Amino acid sequence: DLEVINNAASGDSKQLKSDGVEMGGAWPGQAFSLQVDEVLFHEKSKYQDVLVFKSRTYGNVLVLDGIIQCTERDEAAYQEMLAHLPMFAHPNPKRVLIIGGGDGGILREVLKHPSVEHVTMCEIDEMVIDVSKKWLPKMAAEFGNPKLNLFIGDGFEFLKAHKNEFDVVITDSSDPVGPAESLFGKSYYQLLSDALRDGGILSSQGECPWLDGNLIHTMNVFCKEIFANVKYAIGSVPTYTSGTMGYFVCSQVIKMTFSSESLWLHLELIAHMVQFTKQIFPTVRYASSVMSTYPSGSMGYLIAAKNERDVTTPARTLTSEEVQKWGLRFYNSSLHSAAFVLPTFVQQALEGK
Ligand code: SAM
Repeated sequence: DLEVINNAASGDSKQLKSDGVEMGGAWPGQAFSLQVDEVLFHEKSKYQDVLVFKSRTYGNVLVLDGIIQCTERDEAAYQEMLAHLPMFAHPNPKRVLIIGGGDGGILREVLKHPSVEHVTMCEIDEMVIDVSKKWLPKMAAEFGNPKLNLFIGDGFEFLKAHKNEFDVVITDSSDPVGPAESLFGKSYYQLLSDALRDGGILSSQGECPWLDGNLIHTMNVFCKEIFANVKYAIGSVPTYTSGTMGYFVCSQVIKMTFSSESLWLHLELIAHMVQFTKQIFPTVRYASSVMSTYPSGSMGYLIAAKNERDVTTPARTLTSEEVQKWGLRFYNSSLHSAAFVLPTFVQQALEGK
């Protein structure tokens, strides 16, 4: 007579008798179930249905609108990949933004990087943070960290006021139903692009390639219109429907501006500078502006851009001793590159085939 919690995404956290498995919702025709030992918390917040239960075999489990968000047993699989793929792809991430992330797991992983000076987090639902502090203490362990700047509000609205600020932005959102719907559209990714500094990197939960092919294709197409480099990685997370999770990792162009000389006076020098800069950077442009107090009344600038960071190769690697010291259970430096090697059906899903 034990109950099961069903991951059928019906919009409500259903507690079903073990002989009644509900089908339908976001992923019709299938359901994933966990046996419940005890319901620890169940209330409706302003935004969603929030449930925490103690499972028989996966520890405490957070469920939002009927969909499992994380379990104590397998959370490392998701948190470490979503956090460390962009963080290790960046050579020196100092300022990091997390959108969503109310359970605190991504925050915990980001703060393991010694280069990080500030983490800003914008989570819409304070109730998720409160229940995580109480029932998922290992995930929520860093909410008291002085490097954290926590905002309660909508991530989409928050981004409108933040431009050119972050080295890494991680979107740890729920699925595109309910409050997270706006976090899966092109306009959100345009805001993300504006919020990143030159050479910045983002990661976002990229749903399940077995189930969400159309969404993944749409996201891939618009991300490519916005970012220099768009990649998709996969990993296993047993308690997400179908057991496979995808991650979008995108990077900005790295731009550098050098002051140059006036074209009127130093044509040869400028031609020479353009020539050798082109040997280093694939894209080089010259711009000039009026400067009334400079000889000839103008000033020139060389703008060089490296097309992309190779996000599939870690810019910093961990030895196996460091992996242990960091307490990592899933991510390591070899897995970083391997995660971007995709099965054919995932490549096809991304291309819309
Ligand atoms: N790993 C999970 C998954 O993919 O199932 C998601 C983790 S959970 C921490 C996602 C969080 O995103 C929730 O706490 C939810 O409240 C938050 N969220 C949803 N929509 C949001 C929005 N528009 N702005 C900020 N946070 C949002």
